[in-house]
Amino acid sequence: MKINKIDHVCIAVRDLEAARRAWEPILGKEAPDDAYEDAPEKIRVARYWLGGVGFELIESLAPDGEVAKFIERHGEGVMLVAFNVDSTRAAIEELKARGYPIVGGPRPFRDCEYAFVHPKAVNGVLLELIDYRWRELAEASAPPGEGARDRAFAEPRPATRAGAQVEYRARKKTARLHDPRRGFALAEIESEVREDPLTGETARICHFAFPPRTVPDLSPIAEATRAGCPFCPERIESVTPRYPAEVLPEGRLRRGEALLFPNLFPYDDLSAIVAIERAHFVPMHALRAEAIADALLLARDFIARSAAAFCARQAFGIVTWNYMPPSGASQVHPHLQVIVTDAPGNALARELAAETRFLERHGIPWPQALRDAERAGERRVLEEGAVLWWVPYCPAGMLGDAQALIRGRATLTECSDEEVRLFAATLARLAAAYARLGHWSFNLTLFPDFEGAVSGRHWLGARFLPRFYLHPELHNSDVAYLQLLLGEKFSMVRPEAHAAALREALGA
Ligand SMILES: [Zn+2]
Repeated sequence: MKINKIDHVCIAVRDLEAARRAWEPILGKEAPDDAYEDAPEKIRVARYWLGGVGFELIESLAPDGEVAKFIERHGEGVMLVAFNVDSTRAAIEELKARGYPIVGGPRPFRDCEYAFVHPKAVNGVLLELIDYRWRELAEASAPPGEGARDRAFAEPRPATRAGAQVEYRARKKTARLHDPRRGFALAEIESEVREDPLTGETARICHFAFPPRTVPDLSPIAEATRAGCPFCPERIESVTPRYPAEVLPEGRLRRGEALLFPNLFPYDDLSAIVAIERAHFVPMHALRAEAIADALLLARDFIARSAAAFCARQAFGIVTWNYMPPSGASQVHPHLQVIVTDAPGNALARELAAETRFLERHGIPWPQALRDAERAGERRVLEEGAVLWWVPYCPAGMLGDAQALIRGRATLTECSDEEVRLFAATLARLAAAYARLGHWSFNLTLFPDFEGAVSGRHWLGARFLPRFYLHPELHNSDVAYLQLLLGEKFSMVRPEAHAAALREALGA
């Protein structure tokens, strides 16, 4: 007999809503990860994912249901423990042969079967055997050196094809017109509407004729902004605010050259700035991995120290970097924005909700499926240890962008110093590669789950988005009605070609 793991534990409750109110603050969740009714079993279930194990509150739908009978006999409490096996049928045959009483036979549940061993044979516990195929068990495709979390769920069974759960959908569009550039010959110009494989939201990929890009001389901008810069070393101590003692007894946090202090123009209860280094202007190709790491570590420590104390609801620690004016940055001096908030933004909220649904449907975390799909594909850009960068199937940037995942970490505060330094090193390399492609500005945002999240649905992600002026003299924005008013991503480069260009620039 081989047991893979504890599959789930069931608590019999009289009133499911009351039980949710009792348990959810402890579980750190606002709602079940999986809420369902099982009519044949006459139960209503609130299921929560706890590190790959199901924790279920179950209420009877009828007075003659098994749960109602259990409560009548024993009162509310732990009713059932379920063990995950490779085959329920093989397991009950083996147990029958050893003389264990089985209640009925195998019963269907979703795409698996389960069966019960009678409590009289096992110390009064209703023991369930279930061959539910948790896809996160199947990490057979993982190379040596995968994290301990992944190994903990390793199973010998052959896995489904890596990333097979990720579906990429696109619709080709063809515009027909008489082209004046070719003597008004009939031309067909193709574009594409792609669907985001997680959320289903659409993005457009079009091909514009676009001149080659070169980095302009930025020294006039650097010089013009230096005298009034609040983040330069000669001014920063006197013109930036300090936190009151109840938030941060030190007032500000320092690590290496990086300094964290409150945003004088906060946009949430906890809104901080990290001046990354002392130099007023650092060209994009010369951003230093150590300086970025120190700044991210300050952000991490600030989030870790403040989230629990100052955020009554789920706290998200969001870190963003707007670099140089096309990105919206109001200061040339390199700096991060950090907010600790219960309002993480619409995009992240939608993503997290979709990831919860994906985990319910496939039994595998979305980021794991996505990572498996992208690291094997043509959009892969850079991989170092737990960090993978690729070009997303639906880019947010007009000239493409890059997306990252840090394997098995839900938040920045879960990352070790070493993992943050590794991420910073890949980020510096990526920024240098974009600089070689003629870019000089970007947005970067880290996408975490909430602090203390345990569902496993989400891994810490990042998105690096090069920003530019469409016309270098007009300074017109690369964001317009499509992105802002229609909520539609729009790219002028094919992500696959962009990934190839980035790989080449990384190797240069
Ligand atoms: Zn400065």
